[in-house]
Amino acid sequence: TYVIVNGEFINRSEAKIDIEDRGYQFGDGVYEVIRVYNGKMFTGTEHLERLIDSGKKIGMDIPYTVSEIKQQLESLIDKNRLNLGTLYLQVTRGIAPRNHAFPSNDVSPTFVAYSKEVGRPVENMKTGVKTILNADIRWLLCDIKSLNLLGNLMAKQKAVEAGCFEAIQHRDGVVTEGSLSNISIIKNGKVITHPADNLILNGITRQKVLEICRNNDIPSSETPFTVDDLKSADEVFLSGTTVEITPIVEIEGEKVGNGSLGPITEHLQALFVKEIEKECGT
Ligand code: PLP
Repeated sequence: TYVIVNGEFINRSEAKIDIEDRGYQFGDGVYEVIRVYNGKMFTGTEHLERLIDSGKKIGMDIPYTVSEIKQQLESLIDKNRLNLGTLYLQVTRGIAPRNHAFPSNDVSPTFVAYSKEVGRPVENMKTGVKTILNADIRWLLCDIKSLNLLGNLMAKQKAVEAGCFEAIQHRDGVVTEGSLSNISIIKNGKVITHPADNLILNGITRQKVLEICRNNDIPSSETPFTVDDLKSADEVFLSGTTVEITPIVEIEGEKVGNGSLGPITEHLQALFVKEIEKECGT
């Protein structure tokens, strides 16, 4: 399969990263994951705009425009004959002698992209997933899609060791987000999710869900909610590029609602599929 390294299409086996690449040494960079359905990117523009925005937030200019990256990714999809899967992109601050301070402007970022064939998470979307609660000990710039994922990895690992799929993180009892997803609750017919501030990644899927709510007269609100609200919610779901809209049916061993996919989550899943079909065809 082909991968992209700094605008060039090369064979996966020929891709090499320098030991002094700042992504490798410091996690000094940003990334995106984009779903491909039917050979077409879903919400590609939104993801690429966020990539450039994340770069800006760490003082890094990504040397391509959204449409330039899009063209490269479309070629990658074609070359790899990708129908259903994901694209992974990352941009690091480049290669320079190890130094905490940013290198001078003549050091150019390292841009890498590759594709993976992967199906939709149909099983989890139907039966739902179990979760644990975990203190959110991450930094205060969670809105940046940074390569620094250690906090997220440790949260996810804790969930896996407890036989669960995801860790629901909270700061002083306020639910923020998962390790790889945003969290929403449904109470009395209303979808509630943490506001898009510095404490969460403003998920593209999250934004799509809110848009779907607005366009379909489903009440929604971006309001902080507590662990108690979470536990007494009628339905709870995860949203994210890889997980799409996945119901949470258990939290710390306690059932959410009756412990299965709830009606509003199921409705949102159906409306989400319509969005996919609108953008990527069937
Ligand atoms: N929050 C975190 C920490 C994530 O890693 C992700 C990535 O999938 C999300 C939320 C969801 O974002 P998106 O819907 O853009 O994939």
